[in-house]
Amino acid sequence: MRKQVVAGNWKMNMTLQEGVALAVEVNRMIEENPTDVEVIIAPPFIHLSEIKKNLKVVYLSAQNCAAEPGGAYTGEISARMIKSAGAEYVIIGHSERRTYFGEDNAMLFKKVSLALENGLRPIFCCGELLSERESGNHFVVVKEQLDETIFKLEDNDFSRIIIAYEPVWAIGTGVNATPDQAQEMHAYIRNLVRERFNEKIADDTTIQYGGSCKPANARELFENPDVDGGLIGGASLKADDFIAIIKSV
Ligand code: PEP
Repeated sequence: MRKQVVAGNWKMNMTLQEGVALAVEVNRMIEENPTDVEVIIAPPFIHLSEIKKNLKVVYLSAQNCAAEPGGAYTGEISARMIKSAGAEYVIIGHSERRTYFGEDNAMLFKKVSLALENGLRPIFCCGELLSERESGNHFVVVKEQLDETIFKLEDNDFSRIIIAYEPVWAIGTGVNATPDQAQEMHAYIRNLVRERFNEKIADDTTIQYGGSCKPANARELFENPDVDGGLIGGASLKADDFIAIIKSV
């Protein structure tokens, strides 16, 4: 059975002190309300090691990693460093990275490979722009994002990936995909995984939905058979909202 996973992407929010307080609160609330859902938080890099000390039932993710293993890349953070700070996961290919930092599929494949080599599990984001959906190209775009990155992996490595479908037009806009739109794309992605790998891997792959997911719409999104939890931005910054979303799974 595949895992249901809810991850909170904090983006560039929270001071170290605020971040530790939020992590402590989320961890405490999950300890008091145990769940089968795998819960992950993704704070900024500099919070990782301090937050790690405060987590017992919540997993830790970075939001990005470098496309090089190490060396003279001022300001970059390698997958090996992230692992050494105690994280288990790393988000790769978020649309904000693709849009604002020019990350293309070739670079993302390097990042995925380095993450896996260093024992991190990638949460790999894919999703189309509004114009691509409106022109009917959303399936083609998502397929290309997968073909040029995680579909190049061997079976064993691919089995360690979580896919996050995040339509770009839904991220931070307050306009979520409808449950039908989400289910349609998730089923499509799962079918691509089946064709590229096999039935078992397709059944076992967690495919999260991301994009303006909040307590009010989480249940109707998550009750779709191919939606296995969510990647949550804004609503992960308030412990109560984040926990309410986890409870909706
Ligand atoms: C995200 O950034 O991954 C995201 C889904 O953001 P939001 O929930 O705020 O739309």
